[in-house]
Amino acid sequence: MSSELQLIHSEILECTKCELHKSRTKAVPGEGPHEARIMFVGEGPGQNEDEQGRPFVGAAGKFLTELLESIGLKRSDVFISNIVKCRPPNNRAPRKSEIDTCNPYLQSQIRLINPRILCALGTPAINTLIGDEYSASKFHGKPLTKGEVTMLPMYHPAAALYDASLKETLLHDFQVLKQLLEKEETHSPSTPKSAERSGAKQTLEKWV
Ligand code: URA
Repeated sequence: MSSELQLIHSEILECTKCELHKSRTKAVPGEGPHEARIMFVGEGPGQNEDEQGRPFVGAAGKFLTELLESIGLKRSDVFISNIVKCRPPNNRAPRKSEIDTCNPYLQSQIRLINPRILCALGTPAINTLIGDEYSASKFHGKPLTKGEVTMLPMYHPAAALYDASLKETLLHDFQVLKQLLEKEETHSPSTPKSAERSGAKQTLEKWV
């Protein structure tokens, strides 16, 4: 991990900027290679993540690993983070004030990792990264571009644990991700961070 990213992760581990720090066991900064081409952003740590200090290590994480494997990727190929880095008590949804307070950490991670493809998992992550008018149900699997970044909104893997039909939807949307990645590789096989971008994607007007 780059030293700048490491510094941010050390800050997250000691952060006391919102109430969530009071009930956490461990903060969960995120993990993965700092030069990752793909970054996933989920909602926030659950119980397993809070205990281990690592993102997506519970049931939703197991499914995320399967989804990655379905397109030939390993967890260690991608960077995984969340919009809030500490577990909301009893897995309640993170509050807007908590998301806003934590957002500079996420923005720093995105800036430093500079992924080619940013996958927002679930509506709270989609709202945070793209805008409140976007949702998983309307925009899942539809790539959006802003400058050099391709955003791919998706359902949260946990949603498929409650609604089995969403499993197929997610598997399909991971195929979209695979195609995006192949397109990126075709356009710039050896220039890691300055991909020429093309394709019939919607252009995002709003960006944090
Ligand atoms: N759900 C999330 O949104 N993030 C995690 O890290 C785990 C489960």
